[in-house]
Amino acid sequence: MTPLEVAQDAILHALKPLPTESVALDEACGRITACDIHAPTDLPSFDSSAFDGYAVRADDTISASQESPATLDLLGSIMAGDAPDLVVTPGCGARIFTGAVLPAGADAIVMQEDARIDAQARLVVTEPVTPWEGVRLAGGDVRRGATLIGAGERIKPTHIGLLAAAGIASLQVHRRPRLTFLSTGDELTEPGIALAPGRIYDSNRPLLHALASREGIPVWHSKRIPDQIELVMAALHEAMRDAEVIITTGGVSVGEADFVKPAISALGGSVEVWRLAMKPGKPFAWGRLQNTCWFGLPGNPVSAFVSWWLLVRPALRHLMGMKKPFGRRLLSRLAEPATNPGDRRHFLRVHLDDQGLTHISGSQASHIQHGLAGANALLDLPPGADWPAGREVFVESLDLD
Ligand code: AMP
Ligand code: MG
Repeated sequence: MTPLEVAQDAILHALKPLPTESVALDEACGRITACDIHAPTDLPSFDSSAFDGYAVRADDTISASQESPATLDLLGSIMAGDAPDLVVTPGCGARIFTGAVLPAGADAIVMQEDARIDAQARLVVTEPVTPWEGVRLAGGDVRRGATLIGAGERIKPTHIGLLAAAGIASLQVHRRPRLTFLSTGDELTEPGIALAPGRIYDSNRPLLHALASREGIPVWHSKRIPDQIELVMAALHEAMRDAEVIITTGGVSVGEADFVKPAISALGGSVEVWRLAMKPGKPFAWGRLQNTCWFGLPGNPVSAFVSWWLLVRPALRHLMGMKKPFGRRLLSRLAEPATNPGDRRHFLRVHLDDQGLTHISGSQASHIQHGLAGANALLDLPPGADWPAGREVFVESLDLD
């Protein structure tokens, strides 16, 4: 049996990130940047007022107080969006609003609350200001040329805001892989149709479609196939013509109806990894079929999920150019004991609560979907582990909420 990390490494090494394409900013959220994106200008690009008030020269207000205010000539008014041509000379000030350009000569903003206009329409300042007080400095957020987002990062909504602020309307991202999903099994029925005796609903395909969509990848093609090698071969043959990644579920174990590996081989493909030293997910297989790469996930829904999470998801992220394709680990504490009497590492489905405590999420058999749906993390439990409640553990966040 192959260790998980050996399989992960082999897969990532074999796959090259897909070519890049340009997308409009509105379409870019969730995509992976193909190169560093630099600020074309300083952000903000000019000195401006942080609030509604008066633009002044700080020097003119040094000795201002309630009892002996500084009185200045009022030159005019500057609104956000104006390009002011007035110059604040000694003894003068100008009305200014939030976000408006700081006029030449001024170096501070007096808050509206610390000033008034007298009967002679002069500006009366009752609090001193220091130089650059109330001024949003050009480049105070980002300097021209600084990296706004690095290559290989997933673009978040907050990046979209930052890129828009810098005036960027489109950017280069990696193309998304064309995915084909094939679920195998004579027992499978489409949800919505009445079940014949002995049959079950195909839950893996909808689960995997939803997981792919969470990665920002549309489903290219998807199909359910009975356990007949000719039909499995026909579906794989069709998929390998236009898909880049084929994901099958079921039929990769050692049962008599497990036709997927033989079908891959019969079509000239290679099975490069089969059977991992982990639970669930042991029957996982990975290989090549002409120019496509094939992931054979076990049929049990929990096994399919865990092998998606630990192997397929990082591979798809890597294909899309993501620099850090693996999940995040969080430090927590066991709320209850965790034991692994077996000889394979066990990825327990767990729930990390708001206090940072990790609870085991339901029965850990690989057909238990309710416990999986209640989980928000995976706990990597080594063989032989007998961990007491209260022990500090790292869990891998499932980020699906
Ligand atoms: P297999 O790997 O094909 O031997 O399947 C292992 C178990 O997973 C069996 O109990 C199957 O009925 C079940 N299973 C296989 N495919 C699916 C699927 N698409 N949805 C739900 N359960 C499945
Ligand atoms: Mg099967």
